[in-house]
Amino acid sequence: MNLALWLERTAATHGDSPALLLGERVVTDYAGFHARASAVAAALTDRGIAPGDRVAIFMKNDPDYLVALYAIWIAGAVAVPVNAKLHPRETAWILSDSGAALAFVSPGLGGGLGPETPVPLIDTGGADFAAMARATPRAPVPRAPEDLAWLFYTSGTTGRPKGVCITHGMLMSMSLAYPVDVDPVRPEDGALYAAPMSHGAGLYALIHVRMGCRHVVPASGGFDPAEVLALGRALGPLSMFMAPTMIRRLTDAARASGQSGEGLRTIVYGGGPMYLADIVEAVDLMGPRFVQIYGQGECPMAITALSRAEVADRAHPRWQDRLGSVGRAQSLVEVAVGDAHGRPLPVGETGEIMVRGAPVMPCYWQNPAATAKTLRDGWLMTGDVGRLDADGYLTLADRSKDVIISGGTNIYPREVEEALLTHPGVHAVSVVGRPSAEWGEDVVAFVVAAPGQAPDPAALDAHCLDRIARFKRPKDYVFVPDLPRNNYGKVLKTELRKRLEEDAT
Ligand code: AMP
Repeated sequence: MNLALWLERTAATHGDSPALLLGERVVTDYAGFHARASAVAAALTDRGIAPGDRVAIFMKNDPDYLVALYAIWIAGAVAVPVNAKLHPRETAWILSDSGAALAFVSPGLGGGLGPETPVPLIDTGGADFAAMARATPRAPVPRAPEDLAWLFYTSGTTGRPKGVCITHGMLMSMSLAYPVDVDPVRPEDGALYAAPMSHGAGLYALIHVRMGCRHVVPASGGFDPAEVLALGRALGPLSMFMAPTMIRRLTDAARASGQSGEGLRTIVYGGGPMYLADIVEAVDLMGPRFVQIYGQGECPMAITALSRAEVADRAHPRWQDRLGSVGRAQSLVEVAVGDAHGRPLPVGETGEIMVRGAPVMPCYWQNPAATAKTLRDGWLMTGDVGRLDADGYLTLADRSKDVIISGGTNIYPREVEEALLTHPGVHAVSVVGRPSAEWGEDVVAFVVAAPGQAPDPAALDAHCLDRIARFKRPKDYVFVPDLPRNNYGKVLKTELRKRLEEDAT
């Protein structure tokens, strides 16, 4: 089944419900959204886009993002969403690797793509797109569950991004798990796109289309905490996906303006480590609005979840351990922790996290070597290190390549980061290994000081000594104004390591 049929059905039953909003302004209802997407789909077919062809979306968050996405699916083609903030060279790589036949681009973005861009561009603010939207609408091309729907390019904190093959079946199962494992979805809710629609926020559009919810794109097209708080007040109840760094900024903005996130019904967070100190502060200030998920492009949004009640719980004897975990397996997957050969380990032991189930990818796009490394004996090897407890809670340590080995012992940077973040002088921190002739690697902490503070390394050292084993303490502290992050807010540890190497030479 083509997942665009969910749009067709919602348009049939809720045609006059508001569908796409830009800020507080309703751009169109479900009948209009469906008609526009079906017309653009017909125009794609007229231009020779055949089922299975790839069509890129190089757009900022915009109501027409969803029009382009559904048009591609109605035409039976495969969407290739590309983060609009990528460097032209990275974009050119994704467009050529995916073999995209054309790309939808936001007004003004096409010029930034550079001469190496190999495909024709359709500016969604231009006359060409307007003419496509006036074509005679077409019905969705029949699709099977194993047919490709979305090529998801991994965010690539190292190396070149790989295309994860995401099928119609995966997207449907992931979407139907959301109301079961993450948060019920009601027609009166709105989905707010504060994070890039090329990633998790866009994946969450599908279940909200099925339920006839409003899709609200902030007028700024990006993440502005004050705007998010104002939209919550004006349009709530709203649900949204946020990376942990966005929650940090939202908490700061809410505190500064004396607000508590009114109207922001659910904030689903994931995509990177959420430090205990940060989520405790967010819940204390804004209440039970938060749900955590753990996923990766290879099993989008669907590995584990930590419920709203668990995130807000302060009564359970092990609430802190649970809040520091990513929760328990979602309904459609099995989660295990494996040794170096992918053999499941007993409860409590640390190893690589392995996943199998309906939302797991069948392969990487045209990359059998990477597929063979990542899919082993039916399991997805996530590259994340962690452990399960007896109740099924999964605690992530780090990406396996970020684990520091010092004096032959594994040190998980996350544990050191959690300890340092409880110091009032520390605003943000990232811990990496520095090559050491004596120990193999030394622990080094890059620290962003809290506003107006200049924490003393000796004080930070004493703080660590009170909380973690002596051998895990950083040997050095490097104070920086900011941490380098990719476009999804993930800290680029490779760059920090490179910086240490450069300093050494
Ligand atoms: P991506 O494929 O770009 O979505 O990145 C997925 C990676 O982000 C995972 O493999 C984890 O390393 C990390 N990640 C995702 N969710 C969480 C979470 N809730 N806590 C910590 N790390 C996470």
